[in-house]
Amino acid sequence: MTEFDLIRSIASRFSVPDGITGIGDDCAVIPAASPALSDTLVTTDLLAEGVHFLRESIPPSDIGYKSAAVNISDIAAMGGIPRWAFLSIALPPDLTASSPWLSGFMDGFTACCKRFGVTLLGGDTSASTGGVFVNVTLMGSCPHGTALLRSSARPGDLVCVTGTLGDSAAGLRILTDRTGDDATCTDQKVQLKDGATLMKRHCRPEPRVTEGQALREHQGVYAMMDVSDGIAADLPHILEASGVGATVDVQSLPLSPELRSLCASRGWDPADLALCGGEDYELLFTIAPGTEPPVPFTVIGTIDAAPGLRWLGGKSSYTGFRHF
Ligand code: ADP
Ligand code: MG
Repeated sequence: MTEFDLIRSIASRFSVPDGITGIGDDCAVIPAASPALSDTLVTTDLLAEGVHFLRESIPPSDIGYKSAAVNISDIAAMGGIPRWAFLSIALPPDLTASSPWLSGFMDGFTACCKRFGVTLLGGDTSASTGGVFVNVTLMGSCPHGTALLRSSARPGDLVCVTGTLGDSAAGLRILTDRTGDDATCTDQKVQLKDGATLMKRHCRPEPRVTEGQALREHQGVYAMMDVSDGIAADLPHILEASGVGATVDVQSLPLSPELRSLCASRGWDPADLALCGGEDYELLFTIAPGTEPPVPFTVIGTIDAAPGLRWLGGKSSYTGFRHF
């Protein structure tokens, strides 16, 4: 059973009232009582130690920052304004309320929230018999009926992405390859400037909040989501929700100079990192041909009427991150 079989089986127990966007998009969208008011966006993400982060490799302030950033990114993915946060944490016996790990974590969490105008309103606290668990629920808003959904892609649209892909996955690979060498994201011993840049993209992802809102306000932008599991795993969500297919040109993927140079020196395939790695938290969106979105972006493919995802100029298939 995949993660998505599990989510489908959970979702099948409830019927969602008309007009509400429930399970299946980056956020739930709860419509405003009147069209003059804003719709409410809600998202939640769970970060588990050993699955989403390695406590020994990443400074606690980066884990705190990232816990807020990944949720803010889901609000950005609808074109929304992030507003209110709820934070739940479960701590194993080696961590207590007075431990420097927790204050470091809260420093990073607070910094990210303040940077994007988010206020903490509640949460829950527990002991854990396993590792650290962090769950953040974030609420945001957008003008009534304007949230950019995964289900709005149309045949003939161009598939676009903000920023560069694969940097976070390369940063994670540097961190995990360096186990035993006490590497951290802020490690002064990092010799490679490129490596430090890539590790920072893994540890402190930048949610594209301004870009998301600009895209939501622009005519001709249709489906949108954020890239958390890699294009190979994430684009199929847009395709399935919209009932369409796509062709992606692997040679057109936006790659940073740091990623290119590190891949050249280590013999890594940048396309694998860009398509399968995930955690870039860039925006993946579709536009009508001729549309000029008001943010820097790269066209990586086209939406087709025929279902399925086809790759040009690379391998015949790619697989994004999967939990199960
Ligand atoms: P994202 O990567 O954007 O955070 P996910 O892939 O985690 O999205 O989730 C996909 C969809 O499934 C979302 O709408 C999310 O709210 C929903 N979802 C995930 N896990 C559960 C769950 N255990 N119960 C209900 N809904 C879930
Ligand atoms: Mg998302």
